[in-house]
Amino acid sequence: RFSTASVAEELITPPVQITYTQNLINGQFVDAASGKNFPTYDPRTGEVIAHVAEGDAEDINRAVAAARKAFDEGPWPKMTAYERSRILLRFADLVEKNTEELAALESWNNGKPYEQAAQAELPMLARLFRYYAGWADKIHGLTVPADGDYHVQTLHEPIGVAGQIIPWNFPLLMFAWKVGPALACGNTVVLKTAEQTPLTALYAAKLFHEAGLPPGVLNIVSGFGPTAGAALASHMDVDKLAFTGSTDTGKIVLELAARSNLKPVTLELGGKSPFIVCEDADIDRAVELAHFALFFNQGQCCCAGSRTYVHERIYDEFIEKSKARATRRVVGDPFKKGVEQGPQIDAEQFDKVLRYIRSGIQSNATLECGGDRLGSKGYFIQPTVFSNVQDDMLIAKDEIFGPVQSILKFKDIDDVIRRANTTRYGLAAGVFTRSLDTANTLTRALRAGTIWVNCFDVFDAAIPFGGYKMSGIGREKGIYSLHNYLQVKAVVTPLKKAAW
Ligand code: NAD
Repeated sequence: RFSTASVAEELITPPVQITYTQNLINGQFVDAASGKNFPTYDPRTGEVIAHVAEGDAEDINRAVAAARKAFDEGPWPKMTAYERSRILLRFADLVEKNTEELAALESWNNGKPYEQAAQAELPMLARLFRYYAGWADKIHGLTVPADGDYHVQTLHEPIGVAGQIIPWNFPLLMFAWKVGPALACGNTVVLKTAEQTPLTALYAAKLFHEAGLPPGVLNIVSGFGPTAGAALASHMDVDKLAFTGSTDTGKIVLELAARSNLKPVTLELGGKSPFIVCEDADIDRAVELAHFALFFNQGQCCCAGSRTYVHERIYDEFIEKSKARATRRVVGDPFKKGVEQGPQIDAEQFDKVLRYIRSGIQSNATLECGGDRLGSKGYFIQPTVFSNVQDDMLIAKDEIFGPVQSILKFKDIDDVIRRANTTRYGLAAGVFTRSLDTANTLTRALRAGTIWVNCFDVFDAAIPFGGYKMSGIGREKGIYSLHNYLQVKAVVTPLKKAAW
């Protein structure tokens, strides 16, 4: 029933070699202090593709010491902003030059379609660094008209050593969202990649050094959360922590940051975003975008439109068309042309998604299509659509993070606003209507950090992203992200000889 491009066929060999597997500390690739390595896998098969240095607390200590020295002694924060900007621009050029290798490595380690990585994500990576390169020499404070005979100014200074922890769903884009603004502001960085996807950040950081980044400014440690991640979050010499991942882990790192040196923390966490299709919507477009909103990146998006609310008058037609679209979805080897969906990231996520599918069936949601794994190798899952989903079912409440669409029926705008907001999350929402009044009502009433009207997943380096409620703290991208990486210093100087 499903369009299975190549799951059962012979695998395509990725057009890239794995070159960098050690940690990158102080400009050098080095083994883990313990000498330990851990395997990293190909989600198409579950087979090991490389062994990577397993950083833990000692490697984090070494990386933070290098970042501290590079921050305190320079040259990075003391270079002119123009020079910093030029290094970011050179890096963006190198990303473009190495697009195929980076995209192939991203796809191999993560399972996402190669075409998606090469044609959408790599251009966004370069664009984001160019955007922040543009900011580097435009960051400045204010002259403040305070009472009294004082000259008052604010200096916007880099915050220091930034600790950054990223997830596996968009390894390179998460690298960009974290590293771009931090470096543009003159900070130094220790970044811990997700244990599932350590490869592309190491490659990208190597390119950064080729672009002229001084040693110690960007350090990359591979390793696990409770060891390397926790050591970074609780490090006394880290001045700021930025985290993307699950809400549960977000709570842990916030607590570690508070219990150590009270470093400020920004968090990008989970979501259960509503996608609301009103009675007057263009149904065919809404079906296509609701499908994209959920299934993009194998459903592994924190902002996935994972509660599709459809007005009762168009509900039956919408279900039929959504089912037909999901059934046409092309699932297979992510290196094959035209493939829309690759495997889930790993066995844990694969099992979790299948558990949620079983829970949907047990709670009497109607399984319209899918519902099982695809093929017998790797972590492929059939695009799955449930209708007759009720708000209190687990599949309507929890973040599934997989290719499982839950479609719910609503009666009127007040009903859908109340239900859409009844969630612990608030990352994003989609609104489909031809009425400006309805769009305005919904965009103001929905409690979420991004509202897409008649579109979804529009990302741009300049558009801020972040969550209400348990979807996070703070905003990334755009001008807003700069605030995460700057200290504001007020400098007060008497204008004439003081009276004392
Ligand atoms: P996670 O939150 O456990 O992992 C994210 C990052 O945090 C990884 O780098 C991990 O090593 C690190 N980490 C884990 N435990 C840590 C600790 N105690 N201290 C410091 N760092 C730690 O996410 P996961 O287990 O990979 O995925 C679980 C769920 O998280 C997914 O099913 C999905 O719901 C959600 N998720 C959300 C996003 C997002 O973009 N918001 C991304 C990935 C996963």
